Amino acid sequence: MNVQIENVMPQGFVYERAQNVIHGAVNGTAFLIVPVMAENQFRIQLHADIEKSGGKEDFLEYLHVLEQRHPFVQYAGYNGRNTVSINIASEEQEDKENLTILMSELASKCMEFGIHNCCSRCKNVLPLRAAAVDGNPVLLCESCFKQEINGADGQGMRKENIFLGLIGAVLGALLGTVLWVVIGMVGFIAGIAGYAIVFCAMKGYEMLGRKLSRKGIIICILLSCLMIVGAEYVSLGLAIYKELGDVYFLSMGDSFGLIPAFLEESEVTAGVMKDLIFGYALAIWASFSSVKARWKQVEQEQKPHTVVPF
Ligand SMILES: [Zn+2]
Repeated sequence: MNVQIENVMPQGFVYERAQNVIHGAVNGTAFLIVPVMAENQFRIQLHADIEKSGGKEDFLEYLHVLEQRHPFVQYAGYNGRNTVSINIASEEQEDKENLTILMSELASKCMEFGIHNCCSRCKNVLPLRAAAVDGNPVLLCESCFKQEINGADGQGMRKENIFLGLIGAVLGALLGTVLWVVIGMVGFIAGIAGYAIVFCAMKGYEMLGRKLSRKGIIICILLSCLMIVGAEYVSLGLAIYKELGDVYFLSMGDSFGLIPAFLEESEVTAGVMKDLIFGYALAIWASFSSVKARWKQVEQEQKPHTVVPF
């Protein structure tokens, strides 16, 4: 883009060089304009309570035909919540006029359909301020702005309760363990249930602990490793009961009591080792990508936000 940003700015708009965003208002409706140098375009952002407007359909219809009405409009879309984005191609000398025409049109449509600027986060129509959050320009109400600055109480910022999380993980892992035992009884390689154990443990941790941190993920993985051994132990006890219970009149308790003795038999040990090796390998193979994804997601959530008010 060969244009001087200062030369394309509509009347009364301000350019924040560091954040590369132009902001201002037309007839009381605030707009954010992001110059997209690489594509030779400007992106106009409008945050408004379109969902609450009775004229929503008409407004969307207006957006729909915008590309035909103005040849410089490359794209006009609505995210279904509160943000309208319009990309316009830079025509250098005409940019200032194009931007001005488009925004006055949008502002008068907003007025016509009773659409007002709203907070990008909570969607409330309140006094708003423009800011860049992690480099993205947004409009925020005072309370959302404070939350972003303090990084507190946000969706990803819930306080973790490790103790309850641990209980949740144990309950979840137990569910997965049941699956292991059942699959084992049917005679399949139970290892695939190792994934269920890891998955259910993480789910349980998140449900009761309110948030899954990296610490939580590690707790879940360690717990799952233990549970897999436990599941194999139970499977073995059940197998003994099933095979020998009738013949030797063994109770369930007797069968479980015999496990240590059975484990001294090299044949049994070999079978158990094979089960466990398969189990761990399959569990790692199956849960690796989902655990990795969660791990990364946690990193994103824990990154402190940078908030720059304009
Ligand atoms: Zn808000």
